Amino acid sequence: MNVPAGLDSALQKLAAAGTLLVALDFDGVLAPLVDDPSSSRPLPASADAVRALAGAPATTVVMVSGRGRDDLAAVSGFAPPVGLVGSHGAEFDDELAARLGRGGLLTDEQARRRTELLAGLQELVDAAPGARLETKPAGGAVHVRGMDPDAGRALLERVSREWEHGDVDGTAGKDVLDLAVLRTSKGSAVRTLRESLGADAVFFAGDDVTDETAFRVLEGGDTDVGVKVGDGDTAAGYRVAGPEALSAVLTRLAELRR
Ligand SMILES: [Mg+2]
Repeated sequence: MNVPAGLDSALQKLAAAGTLLVALDFDGVLAPLVDDPSSSRPLPASADAVRALAGAPATTVVMVSGRGRDDLAAVSGFAPPVGLVGSHGAEFDDELAARLGRGGLLTDEQARRRTELLAGLQELVDAAPGARLETKPAGGAVHVRGMDPDAGRALLERVSREWEHGDVDGTAGKDVLDLAVLRTSKGSAVRTLRESLGADAVFFAGDDVTDETAFRVLEGGDTDVGVKVGDGDTAAGYRVAGPEALSAVLTRLAELRR
């Protein structure tokens, strides 16, 4: 399969960059979409290209997925030097975090704030029988499923009133309020990676609406290359039909970067 001429010339410029970051969504991009998410696997040609790129000079390859980090490691089969960022930018693998010189996505100040937040939430949850606190990489989620509906609603209102302001960001779901000390997205993860690695150019490929946050942090001109995989509106500069076509793009980039 050939790479379209416009994209091929963009890849040639990209491959000439000093330090290159290749960030990739996993599902629907490296791996064809399947009904059972646990059976998702990368196309062999894409996996080969990812490993070749990860071994190329001054090149860092990172999977940036909505899956949890451990789940992403299991289905992708990737391990260092391929980096893994899970939960839409909230979980960095240990080796990557160490390379970036941080304990993960949180700064020391944010980590302190998260500790305070979790202590405060635990106190509120302990006083409300049936409520549950889920600890998350950037904060915590208070669950009230199974509680008396009025008591559950009252608890979530109190949690919101006491904690959801300033540097704590809330996302309400069904019977749950998720609180985080930073707003993570694939875009924030790509920006953090670019800055920490001092990348001169970035390649990103994604297929879903959550990937648009990453396309939007790419730089215009001919520095960065964003590739949308499949249909749908996008801020990406390029588009390919599906994971097979992306395999050809990654293979070409690996060949140019060798
Ligand atoms: Mg995807």
